[in-house]
Amino acid sequence: MQSKVALAIGAHPDDIVLGFGGMAVRLIRAGWEVVFLCATLGECGGDPLIRREEETLAARRIGATLEFGGMPDAGVKMSAAMPMIRRALEKYSPSIVFVHDDADTHDDHVQLSKAAMRVCQRETSLYLYEGPTTTGFQPSLVADISEAWEEKCRALDAHQSQVDKLGLQDWIESVGRFRAWPRYAGAMCEAFRAHSADIVGLIGITEEARFKFAVSL
Ligand SMILES: [Zn+2]
Repeated sequence: MQSKVALAIGAHPDDIVLGFGGMAVRLIRAGWEVVFLCATLGECGGDPLIRREEETLAARRIGATLEFGGMPDAGVKMSAAMPMIRRALEKYSPSIVFVHDDADTHDDHVQLSKAAMRVCQRETSLYLYEGPTTTGFQPSLVADISEAWEEKCRALDAHQSQVDKLGLQDWIESVGRFRAWPRYAGAMCEAFRAHSADIVGLIGITEEARFKFAVSL
């Protein structure tokens, strides 16, 4: 039986909530444990002690377990990220992993994404999420997170040193509404791209059906 554990990997405090916060709430409500693995303290974007506190508060508001990877901001390397992710896989045995999409203008995001693609075994579902620096994102599934929207906003609001400076609330609202079209028009959504889509073809069911099966939401 698959574990009801989801691991979400992000480079900087706020990344995971931006791309995955609503889905995290949905999973936790459905009885899952969600683990945030935040690779750095985001010291290039502010005081690392404050950013650590902000990520801790955001994870608490979501109800997620939180770990920091201890990597340098703007210095994430795939070679160092692979053992970090491997340790988290061994510790938590997640059946689903979420990480940045690999088409992104921030190299920390790209390095982490590629590391997860290398490390995750074929039996682990790997989904890529988007963020403000993702480019040309082509989602393969869209999740309605309307009922988790307030929690996502509260978690993002924990990142007081970043939200207004970077206009992050505007980003989640714009993308949340945009991703809802056409299927969930009027809702708030998050979108994901399945990296393990080749397995889907092998077992002969659609990506969305597989995702619903996997998370039983
Ligand atoms: Zn980031």
